[in-house]
Amino acid sequence: MAYPEPLERLIEAFERFPGVGRRTAERLAFHALREPKARELGPALERAVRDTRLCRSCCNVTRVETCEICADAERDALTLCVVEHPRDVEAIERARVFAGRYHVLMGALNPSDGTESTHLFVERLVERVRREGTREVILATDPDAEGEATARLVLEALHSAGLAPRVTRMARGLPAGSAIEYLHKGVLEDALEGRVELLLSRNDQRRG
Ligand SMILES: [Zn+2]
Repeated sequence: MAYPEPLERLIEAFERFPGVGRRTAERLAFHALREPKARELGPALERAVRDTRLCRSCCNVTRVETCEICADAERDALTLCVVEHPRDVEAIERARVFAGRYHVLMGALNPSDGTESTHLFVERLVERVRREGTREVILATDPDAEGEATARLVLEALHSAGLAPRVTRMARGLPAGSAIEYLHKGVLEDALEGRVELLLSRNDQRRG
């Protein structure tokens, strides 16, 4: 081992972040050793892990058991907007275009980075739709290949569970390959208003 053991451990820890290879991990670790400001990472990380949790209802990151949005009785509890990441909730909330509630899957199907259906909170969504009698599920996963596959997955999971809420997909005006989190208010608003019903194709039904 070329580096002192504690440094090697730090490099390995950085390497576990998505998209960070050995070279970048080394650069980050040396930076953290030299730069007092960068050392705030340690306590910040510890505190974030200790003081945040997943909302028991929507799986978004929160400090309390039930997040503010799920606890807000003014919001439409029967319409769920399903997104990939907490940052998508932030983007849609910032645009003020949606008055229902959310469900965060915590990712999208992506064979290349090893994200499979079991890593996503799809089962929790299915249970929730059953429990709460959800009327509409709006699939607001990204308009890219992973997002489309994830939308299909959710649709099929609801169908296999014998649940039949209206399932729609945010569509119109969304540039293919873009990400929900970067879209502006007008585009999000159009995409929500122009959402289209998503139906199982015959092939999907045969598979299910
Ligand atoms: Zn919540």
